[in-house]
Amino acid sequence: MSTGVIDAGLIDELTGIVGAVHVLRAPEMTAGYSIDWTRRFAGATPLVIRPGDTAETAAVMSALAAARVPVVPQGGNTGLVGGSVPLAGEAVLSMRRLNICEPVDELASQVTLGAGVTLADAQAHAAASGLSVGVDLAARDSATIGGMVATNAGGINVLRYGAMRAQVVGIEAVLADGTVVSHLAGLEKDNTGYDLGSLLAGSEGTLGIITRVRLRLHPTQPERATALLAFETAADAVSAAAALRRGVASLHALEAVFEGAMALVSRHLGVAPPVGRLGGDSHRNPPIEDGGGAWLIAEAAARTDPSDELGAAVEELADLVVDAAVALDPAARQRLWAFRDNVTEAISAAGIPHKLDVTLPAARLAEFVDGVPDVVRATDPDAQPLLFGHLGDGNVHVNVLGPGGAEPADEVDDAVLRYVAELGGSISAEHGIGTAKLSQLHLNRSEAELAAFSAIKRALDPVGLLNPNVLLP
Ligand SMILES: Cc1cc2nc3c(=O)[nH]c(=O)nc-3n(C[C@H](O)[C@H](O)[C@H](O)COP(=O)(O)OP(=O)(O)OC[C@H]3O[C@@H](n4cnc5c(N)ncnc54)[C@H](O)[C@@H]3O)c2cc1C
Repeated sequence: MSTGVIDAGLIDELTGIVGAVHVLRAPEMTAGYSIDWTRRFAGATPLVIRPGDTAETAAVMSALAAARVPVVPQGGNTGLVGGSVPLAGEAVLSMRRLNICEPVDELASQVTLGAGVTLADAQAHAAASGLSVGVDLAARDSATIGGMVATNAGGINVLRYGAMRAQVVGIEAVLADGTVVSHLAGLEKDNTGYDLGSLLAGSEGTLGIITRVRLRLHPTQPERATALLAFETAADAVSAAAALRRGVASLHALEAVFEGAMALVSRHLGVAPPVGRLGGDSHRNPPIEDGGGAWLIAEAAARTDPSDELGAAVEELADLVVDAAVALDPAARQRLWAFRDNVTEAISAAGIPHKLDVTLPAARLAEFVDGVPDVVRATDPDAQPLLFGHLGDGNVHVNVLGPGGAEPADEVDDAVLRYVAELGGSISAEHGIGTAKLSQLHLNRSEAELAAFSAIKRALDPVGLLNPNVLLP
């Protein structure tokens, strides 16, 4: 695609729409919008535009389309696949100023939120009405509702409520030419044609700019019990996870941390895990290796105390569990969660990882966890795989660091993702394709599917202005 020219006339037009203070051009002002959270993906942009509402977003897109300027939509910039930053000199459309939470509709248990509302603000807004947002993830203070829909974010409660697409009951978006499409009534039954909310969920900014979202909310589950369980092997953890899913109706989250990642996070926190083979003072200088051990965090949540239900299920796992710690009060539960919540940050502090976020069929999960370190090392002998993830959904985050925290060889990504496809898994569980996995999309999608994707893209964005480096090869 030939890119357009950003001239004085266009800048004047954009300034007239959003105000001079929201058109950023100086490199020191645009730098933060040009590098992603992992620091692996960095580019540059001549222009960041920060619209304040749907009408401004539409007028901005209309002006950019007339000038044929490609654009990267950006929310909280916490995406992990390089999809939120300008890698080829695109303009950036920052959606964070669309941060209005409309009143909760308590009759319908729904709320309409601006695309730039952070997940943490959405959670607090819903909680004031005794309701909760169905998706939760560790980047909650920065990740925006628009970005979460655009990536179909998953997180820790998918096993109970589904991913972001399952929360969307209405959407408003601006198309590439500035047209506004809005369908926000939130009717639970509404079979009046194509579901644009479902289409935009997971579209990674390639089909439209999401400006407002109507979300389904859920009753809060204030009573909680959390268990940290240690296992000798990944296979034992996978068997236990299946039993917990079957046996605990109030199961709210089921997360895993495998040995190398547990050693790293316990060193980062300066605290050894209370159960399992890394006890004692191992956090002071543990070998960061994948020794085969595994930990599960299982959380039950309900309107009434779920601890008996969780405790009974854990007792039934006596043959598999090496050791268990159960916590009920918020501070003690938080201490257990710290070993999961801080893994991403601990890895980021150790270097620039390649992040491979994958799902495996349940029957191949343990085989994958045991086999993937060899696959990584066959490609880059010095690389270090660190595994954790949302085990209740079959979702493993394979993070790979090179020596001294440097990036591993690029070939590692291909080798791991091919292994995933061979085992019948998905090369992207929840982070999306972005630019990071563009060249591997064919491992999961047939030529016919990719042709259908391209046809949809051409229909909604014929010039290819929206996130041109993302998702579609
Ligand atoms: C510590 C940490 C933990 C995380 N945990 C999880 C997790 O458990 N589960 C999970 O799924 N993800 C997780 N992530 C990844 C990330 O938080 C999610 O992908 C999130 O949905 C991104 O939201 P964002 O607002 O930051 O979007 P951005 O990073 O700004 O953008 C992500 C993509 O969406 C597009 N986009 C953004 N806003 C819009 C919009 N308004 N309209 C159209 N397109 C848009 C961008 O172009 C880009 O392609 C984690 C990230 C971090 C840093």
